[in-house]
Order: sequence, then C-alpha cells, then structure tokens
Amino acid sequence: MVFVHGCFWHRHESCRYTTKPSTRPEFWAAKFETNIARDSVVRTMLLKAGWRVAIVWECALRKPDDAKQAADLISDWLLSDQVQIVLGEREVRPPNGGTLENAIRCASI
Ligand SMILES: [Zn+2]
Repeated sequence: MVFVHGCFWHRHESCRYTTKPSTRPEFWAAKFETNIARDSVVRTMLLKAGWRVAIVWECALRKPDDAKQAADLISDWLLSDQVQIVLGEREVRPPNGGTLENAIRCASI
C-alpha cells in the first residue's frame, strides 16, 4: 500500500512544509491531531493484516529529480522484503545519496 501524504495535512515532522496556521489554533490542533491519529490507526491495521506500507511525503515529490529518486526507491522497496518505507525530501536527497537502507531506517515509526 503506497500512501502519498501532504506534509501540511498529515503533519510531516520537522518538515519545512508543515506550517502552522495563524488563525483558529484550537481548530487546527484538533484537526491535525485527528489526521495523525487516523494515519497511525490505518497504518497499524494494514501492517497487522499483512500489508506492506510505504509513505511518500509531498516534499519528496516537489522537484523532478526528487520525484525520480522517490520512484526509484519505491521500486527498490517493492522488490525487497522490507515491510515499511518512508520517503521525504530528507530521504530522497540526503548528503550521502538516497539509498533504500536510509529510507527504510526512517520507517521505524
Ligand atoms: Zn515533508
């Protein structure tokens, strides 16, 4: 199962696109909390049911080179036996190059 999450709506941790709205802070806090909780429940249910889960953050797809790298990493992951992978811009564009091992390391959520 491959999810593509918007960094803002799904609250990608430590991501520059995970901005905080300046108005109605209580509304947004509740909204984001609900989204995060739902994502966690869905991911846990899928994993327990035997599905493999990939999360591709929006920030990994914003630039063409990053999107290509994300697609390559997803392709490698699909052929691997790893259960989870998480790809954000940090995983597709790390200083030492994007590798499946680095991306999988980030998946231990
Ligand atoms: Zn992000």
